[in-house]
Amino acid sequence: MSKRLFKNGQIASEDSPKLIESDVLVDDGKITQIARGISADGAEEIDCSGCVLMPSMFDGHVHAREPGEDHKETIESCSEAAINGGVTGLILMPNTLPAIDNGNLIQSVLDIAAEKSRIPILQAGCITKNRAGEELAGIAGMAAKGAPVLTDDGNPVDSPVVLRRAIEYAMDFDLPLASHCETKSLSGKGAMNEGAVSYRLGLPGMPAMSEEICLERDIRIAQYTGGHIHIQHVSTAIGMNAIRRAKEDGIRVTCEVAPHHLIFNQEDIGNYDANFKMNPPLRTEEDNEALLQGLIEGVFDVIATDHAPHTHFEKANDFGSAPFGITGLETAVVSLYHHYIRNGRFGWDLLVKRYSAEPRRLAKADPIAINEGFDADFIVFETNATTEFSLEFMRSKSGNTPFIDKTLNGQIRKVVRHDALLLDR
Ligand SMILES: [Zn+2]
Repeated sequence: MSKRLFKNGQIASEDSPKLIESDVLVDDGKITQIARGISADGAEEIDCSGCVLMPSMFDGHVHAREPGEDHKETIESCSEAAINGGVTGLILMPNTLPAIDNGNLIQSVLDIAAEKSRIPILQAGCITKNRAGEELAGIAGMAAKGAPVLTDDGNPVDSPVVLRRAIEYAMDFDLPLASHCETKSLSGKGAMNEGAVSYRLGLPGMPAMSEEICLERDIRIAQYTGGHIHIQHVSTAIGMNAIRRAKEDGIRVTCEVAPHHLIFNQEDIGNYDANFKMNPPLRTEEDNEALLQGLIEGVFDVIATDHAPHTHFEKANDFGSAPFGITGLETAVVSLYHHYIRNGRFGWDLLVKRYSAEPRRLAKADPIAINEGFDADFIVFETNATTEFSLEFMRSKSGNTPFIDKTLNGQIRKVVRHDALLLDR
């Protein structure tokens, strides 16, 4: 049991673009008082001058690599990476070895998480057995074990009839299907976005329409069935605008954008750096700008990182052969601050809404907020400090990120969850 008084911070919330200057008293894990000039006997005082206090983040698209590839990441290292990035809730993707396609496997992951993770973890289930796109996975069993969403992430469900049956069945359990949109016959062995840059670099391309055709199909299946489809990691303006129209038509579609699809584009691949290789690939500068506008206008329900750890050995391979994916949990908040909040492109309220509040609502997780009576679950973020993303800084087992060895503005100093200071620097 402890009492902590966070003095002179500025509080961010999803409802207001303005920061509210206030002290926050946390007693026995609960926020008991928010006011200016609080003094509390016996409380540990933490000076938060120059800091923003905001609800902790929730990432709905994370690869923890356990079971099967523990050398890249484990549930434990993944949860520590999350804390290092100000994230206190996760949905793990089911494309592990074996793939999480039945209730027993979900339970096994939850058992490991209960022992090894300092933050709550949810495990998504597969749509089809072993993500093969043929037979439906054990959906009822996974729903019973608390899977918040079903996805074959990494693969699309190629067959429309399989996707239709899955979405209809999942409706009985009020479960959304999350869709990795890709038309494999078009993307083939592509390594990056198809276009002028792929021709120049001599790399096989993945055309934008590979993603867009699948996305349009999945929206149509959601419309026809009345089911809920969630489009993962949207990377193109055309795809995003299809979702915008679908929402206007009342179709049950939600979607996410990854920080790397906002910040980087195909020009950044430069000297064949595989830390810029992911699927969907980085697109064009025009896509960056359109996706950012879409985020500001509310087309994107959530920000999600698609945290995808790989070993240095694999990523050091030539660009064409290296695996897809970059880590994201530890860099998301700082990089979004550095690129967008610091210069006023969007406000703290957007970050809180799209990377904390809304993803929790989608996952049906308990809401959090910096309000009296709520459990403490917040970040202390110092705006004038910097963060160097060195390998020593990272708590993930992998350092495959474009931000490696870069220094960005902003630093997460504390992560407070209930009675614990999960992060303290
Ligand atoms: Zn994916």
